[in-house]
This record gives sequence, structure tokens and C-alpha cells, in this order.
Amino acid sequence: MGCSPDSLLAWFAPWACALGASAAASVVAWRAGALSADGAVAAVAVGTVVAGAGGWSWAVLLGVFVAAASAVSALPPHPQKPRRSARQVLANGMVACLAAVGHALGVVGAGAAFAAAVAAAWSDTWATEFGVRYGGRPRLWGLRPAEPGTSGAVTAVGTLAGFAAAACCGAVAHALRIAPAGWTAGAGVLGLLVDSVLGATVQAQYRCSCCGRGGEAARCSCGGRGVQVRGLRWVDNDATNLLGTAAAAVFGWWLASGVP
Ligand SMILES: [Zn+2]
Repeated sequence: MGCSPDSLLAWFAPWACALGASAAASVVAWRAGALSADGAVAAVAVGTVVAGAGGWSWAVLLGVFVAAASAVSALPPHPQKPRRSARQVLANGMVACLAAVGHALGVVGAGAAFAAAVAAAWSDTWATEFGVRYGGRPRLWGLRPAEPGTSGAVTAVGTLAGFAAAACCGAVAHALRIAPAGWTAGAGVLGLLVDSVLGATVQAQYRCSCCGRGGEAARCSCGGRGVQVRGLRWVDNDATNLLGTAAAAVFGWWLASGVP
């Protein structure tokens, strides 16, 4: 790349567009109550890196995922949902950012890794949102019933919604020529599985010392403090999301790099 003003502008313009579009979308999400202030800052960072390093088609896939994830949280009934924090945004978007940087550096299979990470985040979101609303009592791996909100516990409705999300992401990634539909969908399902297994095994679970409800948050929605009953203290829902998207991305990259 030369140093003439023209080439500098050609390099800078896509990044300026990426920043502008991400900032606009994040302000809308913040005003709608979907993001906290630090969550909005994190979303600007994720959007700028994905669009700037990945290009417009990557930005479109990310935008479709965010729209699909937001749309289902508007379904009835409406549980009062807290705004998404920077930690939650980065747990779902960090791996996609790394794939975009890899793409800009010419890493083979970065597109498949990116689509896979988005598919895993999309699957987990739909599985959770549909499962909590319409799934009834969840079960830990098809065996014993668990309280709603127990991490790693699954419902048939939630699992089907997760599969549907992976298929949707595969179709969009294919239409945008980022990665083949089958790879993306398969990696998304793998990510969902990893997320659920980690949630059922190592993720910290608490029981409220006040109202007795179980859940994955250290502080109960009633305001009481939770006592840890299983899992590792430092493995929360954000950590399992990060590991689920990472597992999907590695699988997508592995398929694309022609190792098999
Ligand atoms: Zn409580």
C-alpha cells in the first residue's frame, strides 16, 4: 500500500463507514433498552472490527443475527430482561472479531470460522429465548427435570429453535458467499452442544439464600444472595458462550482448511 492521500483514503473509508454504521446501530439498541452503556461501546467495537476487517457481507451477516436475536426477545410473554453488558456482548462477539482479523490477514478458512461463531451465538440465543417461553420444564440431558433457568438444561422446543437458528445462519452465510450452508449449520449445532454440556457441568450454579430459587446468577432477581451449589466460580454464562462460539469457530475453520 502506498502513502498517497488517495490510497490512504481508500484504506480509511471502509473503516469510517464501519464505525459509523456500528455506532448508529448501537445507539438504536441502547435507546431501545437492549444494551447498557458499556454494552453499546462493546457493540461499536465488535461491529467496527467485523465490518472493517471482514467487509460488507460479513457486516450483513452480523446484522441479520443481531436482528434475529432481538426479534425473538420481543415475543410474548415479555420477561423483564436486563440490558446486555459489555461482557455479554464480547462473550458472543469476540471470536467473530478474531475471525475478521484473521480474514484481513489472509488466513484460510476465516470466513467459515466467522460464520460458525455467529451460528453458535444465534443458536444459543434462540434456544434460550424459545426454550424459556414455550419449552416447559427443561431437562438435564434428557434425564432428570430441572428448574427453568438451570444452565445446561434443555427443552425440546429450545433445541429445535437452536437447530433452526443454525440452519438460518447457514443459509444467510451461503447466500452472502461467506461459507457453505452445511458447514455453518453443523458448526452452530456443535457450539450449542458445547454450550449446553459446559452449562450442565462446569458452569457455576447458585441457590438463593432468600427465596430458595436456583439459577446461574450469583445474585437472585429477588435481591437475595445466591449460595454456590455446583460448578466452577469463574465459569459463568458468558464464559460458556465464549467457549461455545470458539469451539464452533475452530470446527468451521477445520472444515474449511481441508484437514479432513
Ligand atoms: Zn431469591
